[in-house]
Amino acid sequence: MSDIAIPTRAPATTSADDTVQPFAVAALDLRGRVVRLGPAIDEILTRHDYPAPVAKLLGEAIALTALLGSSLKFRGKFILQTQTDGPVRMLVVDFTTPGRLRACARFDKGRVADAIAAGETSAGALLGQGHLAMTVDQGPDMSRYQGLVAVQAGGFEATAHEYFRRSEQIPTRVRLAVAEEFRMEGEGVRHRWRAGGILLQFLPKSAERMRQADLDPGDAPQGTAPHVVPEDEAWVEGRSLVATVEDIELIDPALSSERLLYRLFHERGVRVFRSVAVRAQCSCSREGVASMLRSFSPEDRAHMVEDGAIRVTCEFCNGTYVFAPGEVEDR
Ligand SMILES: [Zn+2]
Repeated sequence: MSDIAIPTRAPATTSADDTVQPFAVAALDLRGRVVRLGPAIDEILTRHDYPAPVAKLLGEAIALTALLGSSLKFRGKFILQTQTDGPVRMLVVDFTTPGRLRACARFDKGRVADAIAAGETSAGALLGQGHLAMTVDQGPDMSRYQGLVAVQAGGFEATAHEYFRRSEQIPTRVRLAVAEEFRMEGEGVRHRWRAGGILLQFLPKSAERMRQADLDPGDAPQGTAPHVVPEDEAWVEGRSLVATVEDIELIDPALSSERLLYRLFHERGVRVFRSVAVRAQCSCSREGVASMLRSFSPEDRAHMVEDGAIRVTCEFCNGTYVFAPGEVEDR
């Protein structure tokens, strides 16, 4: 047997905002990623200026999207979208490789105000019932992959667990946190959004060890005992450790992703891989909007003219494009 020296070093002390840090705990067959979002999420949420509970909810969706989208092994897009009947009707988050994020929400202002007044601003209450779709788009020549799962009352963590249990059958745990940071700056208080998250998956070589309890048999005859499968000890240890992660550990700028991982897994040994940088960047462009406008009929375009110009606002970044009517005539 050859001896392979694995280099070891102390975990980095400085936090790297706007990164996704992949890691592995070989002794427990665990793999995962930690995301830490500072300026990127602040830029997206501040630009929209949604009511705080809507921003926080969208922030959780953004953190989850960064965790999932950063696993793409090819150029493409990962899109997370909810469609539900609650005060927040729709959330859309795009992750374009290698690390571009954009996001927006559609919601009913009156119902959101009522929810805030009633103190019912949990993710489950704001979303209501409906589904979450995750789409992987590798470009026009490739087929799109879409996974669907019912939105769970517990919010995005519970919904992600349900998705991986049903669709991928990979034991998975996700923790997400979003918070507002207030800092004195000169005379005023500067407000910033921060977010973080961790995803942990159990990926043993033997599929037998990944077995999870069967799904609710649904129409099985009454009295049928549910099929209980004991969970693998390595997975129980892993998910128990992740359950101890507190929100502050995911968003604290003074705690690096590496230190958090070391805190959780140092007894078993944890390896980190090259981190992925993420940033807030929309994909809209003046040319793209112009060609969208040209796809309408001249009559439809004429109806869009207000005060002598056509104005188009991008729902993702709030950027506004102004065109003189003659600029977007058919060519
Ligand atoms: Zn845009």
